[in-house]
Amino acid sequence: MKIYLAKNCGFCFGVKRAIKIAEEAAVKYKNVYIKGELVHNEGVCQDIEKSGVRRADSLEKLPAHSNVIIKAHGEPLKTYKTLCAMDLNIVDATCPMVKDIHKKAQELEKKGYQVVIIGDRNHEETKGILGNIKNGIILENKAEVDKFKGNLKNKIGVLCQSTQTLENVTALVHKLAKHAEELLFINTICNPTRLRQKEIEELSSTCAAVLVVGSKKSANTKRLYEAAKKINKNSFWIISEKINENSFRKFKSIGIIGGASTPVEVLKTIAGRLNDL
Ligand code: SF4
Repeated sequence: MKIYLAKNCGFCFGVKRAIKIAEEAAVKYKNVYIKGELVHNEGVCQDIEKSGVRRADSLEKLPAHSNVIIKAHGEPLKTYKTLCAMDLNIVDATCPMVKDIHKKAQELEKKGYQVVIIGDRNHEETKGILGNIKNGIILENKAEVDKFKGNLKNKIGVLCQSTQTLENVTALVHKLAKHAEELLFINTICNPTRLRQKEIEELSSTCAAVLVVGSKKSANTKRLYEAAKKINKNSFWIISEKINENSFRKFKSIGIIGGASTPVEVLKTIAGRLNDL
């Protein structure tokens, strides 16, 4: 059996940075809290909690003088306003690429565009983008263009969640263009996502089976898995290194890739266990 570990694997730049910021905050301050999960990986979040960062279910109940970490996916403006009003210290671990999407959305709005965000309606990043502008609309797929066409204006500025696929985004933009007199599209899919999406196509086409490793909550892992499955029916979504390696014995070659918040050690452990076969 041949094992191919993806070149683009391990934490992306934004996840690495967020973990470093959280770890440093845990050393520097006493009362450190985080709203939600720093990144979408259970193991990483547990490690952060072990380092002393506590999970805040409700910001309003945080004690005075707390330090609050903003997760990699970002937050709506109202979260910052609440924290400032409470005079708490903000430790911002939002990925700079997500911050850049917020900025672009605000610029579009200032220029009079109705902002359309292509992404998962219930994802933290998409909610954060929406919460950084006055008015916007989220569309998940091209079928939703018909559903929401009554809400669309003639001048539309489109951007997307950083982990979207170009395929979904392009299909949606083409359909939206039929409803608007003016449409400006800014491709905000981040570079780490693009590289992994390209590589998953290669691995799925050349390997007998593909393992996509990452949390079920991870949007980019989900899309990698969907992309792999389209090309290769022997594609599997694996959430941790605890695999039954014998079930993969029949494959002559296996490609392994992880989501942006999957530690490279997990991928290497899986590769090692398969190699031992
Ligand atoms: S996937 Fe992209 S946007 Fe998300 S944290 Fe990583 S680099 Fe930032």
